[in-house]
Amino acid sequence: MSSKVYIDGNLYNREDAKISVFDHGLLYGDGVFEGIRAYNGRIFRLEQHLNRLYASAKYIMLEIPMSKEDLSSAVLLTLEANGLSDAYIRLVITRGVGTLGLDPNRCSSPSVIIITDSIALYPQEFYENGLEVVTVPTVRSHPSFISPLVKSLNYLNNILAKIEGLNAGAMEAIMLNEQGFVTECTGDNIFVVKEGVIETPPANGGILDGITRNAVIELAEEMNIPFRETALTRYNLYTADECFLTGTAAEIIPVISIDKRTVGAGKPGQITLDLLAKFRGLTQSEP
Ligand code: PMP
Repeated sequence: MSSKVYIDGNLYNREDAKISVFDHGLLYGDGVFEGIRAYNGRIFRLEQHLNRLYASAKYIMLEIPMSKEDLSSAVLLTLEANGLSDAYIRLVITRGVGTLGLDPNRCSSPSVIIITDSIALYPQEFYENGLEVVTVPTVRSHPSFISPLVKSLNYLNNILAKIEGLNAGAMEAIMLNEQGFVTECTGDNIFVVKEGVIETPPANGGILDGITRNAVIELAEEMNIPFRETALTRYNLYTADECFLTGTAAEIIPVISIDKRTVGAGKPGQITLDLLAKFRGLTQSEP
């Protein structure tokens, strides 16, 4: 059976799911999106994803043409139509069909697209053995350009960094800001553990405020592991006892080397593994 894609109220077979070449989402990256996971037929933190989506849309002055409740129902409908209980869900809102000019006022109405898939980002061996990552030259876009808090369709900043990482043989790349502080990876947030304290860059402006990141912060509190948001440099990465990345697709993935420097003992750290186990419990148990 062909998978079904939701576009503006209708479900289409995958091969018939098409949008106009005049959509400003395509022409200019003018739109916003979310990546969401369903576990056992339940969508993990859908409300938080919708809140972030509507905030991103508000920032780019794009009015999503349906309520959060209706969009939530549309996501569930699409999941059901695809017979998926464990899934990755891509929710995309584009500015819609316009002219070749920039003016968004010439766009008729925003499009709502929901795509489901069964992917998992990294092979199982990386959860057991850890990931090798690198820092890359492309700097994370400055918050006064387009805030990295906004999950917009313009991902070129991240894609350039991803290419640089892949060219260096790494599946994920760490981006610094213009001052040399660590921000996040191309599609994941980053944490280190130093002397029992979990540390991550602050959410206020320079990174995407990840939903998995927030779940990890809650778990750290619950597990009585000291945690702080703080500015990190390459020094903190190279001298960390543990490092891990978080994201909807990746969940929590251990990092064992950064720029060819071994992290800790060169294998996934205990705090990382404990958090991963707790996080997986959460994805199975949350209503
Ligand atoms: N940073 C960036 C740039 C991302 O694209 C993502 C994935 N959405 C994340 C961090 C992780 O966020 P989340 O945990 O909400 O998936």
